[in-house]
Amino acid sequence: MIVLKDMLRVKIAVTIGPSSSDLEKIKEFIKLGVFAFRINFSHGDAEEWKKYVDLVKDASTSLDSHVALIGDLPGPSIRIGEIPGKIVLNRDEEAKIIYAEKVGDVEDRIIPMPLSLFFKNVKVGDVLIMDDGKIQMMVRDVGDREIVVKALTNAEISSRKAVVIKGKDIGLPTFSKRDIEALRFSVKNDFDYIGLSYVRNIGDVELLKSTLASIGGREIGVISKIETVQAINNLSDISESSDALLVARGDLGMHFGLEQVPRLQEQITEIALAKGKPIIVATQLLASMMENTVPTRSEIVDILTAVKDGVDMLMLTGETAVGKHPIEAVEWLKRVIETYEPIIKPRRIKLPSNVDIRDRFAEGITMLAESLGASIIIYTKSGRGALRISRNRPNVKVYVASGYEKTLRKISILWGVITVKVDSEDYLEGLEEAFNKLKDRGELKIGDVVVLTYGLKDEPLHLVKIIQVK
Ligand code: ATP
Ligand code: MG
Ligand code: MG
Repeated sequence: MIVLKDMLRVKIAVTIGPSSSDLEKIKEFIKLGVFAFRINFSHGDAEEWKKYVDLVKDASTSLDSHVALIGDLPGPSIRIGEIPGKIVLNRDEEAKIIYAEKVGDVEDRIIPMPLSLFFKNVKVGDVLIMDDGKIQMMVRDVGDREIVVKALTNAEISSRKAVVIKGKDIGLPTFSKRDIEALRFSVKNDFDYIGLSYVRNIGDVELLKSTLASIGGREIGVISKIETVQAINNLSDISESSDALLVARGDLGMHFGLEQVPRLQEQITEIALAKGKPIIVATQLLASMMENTVPTRSEIVDILTAVKDGVDMLMLTGETAVGKHPIEAVEWLKRVIETYEPIIKPRRIKLPSNVDIRDRFAEGITMLAESLGASIIIYTKSGRGALRISRNRPNVKVYVASGYEKTLRKISILWGVITVKVDSEDYLEGLEEAFNKLKDRGELKIGDVVVLTYGLKDEPLHLVKIIQVK
């Protein structure tokens, strides 16, 4: 049985891909403290996605744990077509990009691009960036349906990689056919969150919400992936209407320049914390572990920075999707978090003065529990109560009980939240059940003090119970 009270407060998420498509690995991830699994809908097809979903469901059921499923939309990105293998270019070599879905071989150095808008917008002198910035090419010649590029870096180009035209937005529609297919798949398979890629403004977020509602996915949360210049300009509005934010460092680095990434990460985290929204940091946390079994010093420092910033969740991407050492990557992420959690105080943002009374209540409960050195147990139906407590970054254990599986999965991404499944769908009964369950499991010991409550409701009378375990 997983010991709940030993769980990390900063949560870990992994991207599933060919390297992690295995029941034992997924179980191992969960045992190590992974609370969310991301499927990148830019790659593979519905059959492959379904395999991943089933693996996650089987693993979490067998371990009696609740983990969130995050579906990541391709979004309005320019992507190349299918290539059988890899096209390899050395620096200064030329290649062609042609209007096509796919190419038959890699020898001719012809890259397929199935998007006519691309050819309408690209100009001589434009810089094309791929693969989180590792690949750069300069446009040398532009024809109607083919262009010539020169590699500015060595490049290994594989299928469906996204391309950024530096400094240009070619105005793609928010959702493509593939996005809609992915959304239907997510609703059918009971996903908990959708990652909205390349979000530009609040309109994109609202469009996702209304699209989800129209196909039966009203309960799915929206994670806005902040990665474009426009998203940064509209950050406050976007965070207001999203359920969570994600610092998508791969594309941020391509759209802004790598040296801007730390500043942007800080800015996005700050806004999320101020608005009380969960915040996730992703990409290249342990990039060297794609190949190696040990990280670099600077990767460890990078992880520590995010932990100190107070982020809810750290997300591995390529490391677990296609890397050589997915389990070791999670072990290292865990090791770093574990080492520093006891000695650093994560940033706690003062609540804004105009905040909801229910947030004040949660702040008060946190202060009470901290001054008593008590654990908190709260019961929640929708999960709002868990979010209100978690945003205070309490320095005590926080157990959140619910009778609703979906709620437990959704709140499992929150900083410090330890989920407890109970049968009861009633607040007081549910609290009692959770208290007894934690006592029986040995999570609570004789002498421990516990503060039990639920979020403020629309009722005149509220209850906060303080119990010392006997
Ligand atoms: P992309 O721009 O391709 O979406 P990303 O950085 O968002 O890139 P990640 O999900 O972080 O992609 O994964 C890193 C790389 O792992 C991808 O670029 C892709 O090559 C590979 N990958 C991810 N998921 C899969 C999958 N399901 N099948 C095959 N390859 C995958
Ligand atoms: Mg992506
Ligand atoms: Mg990436």
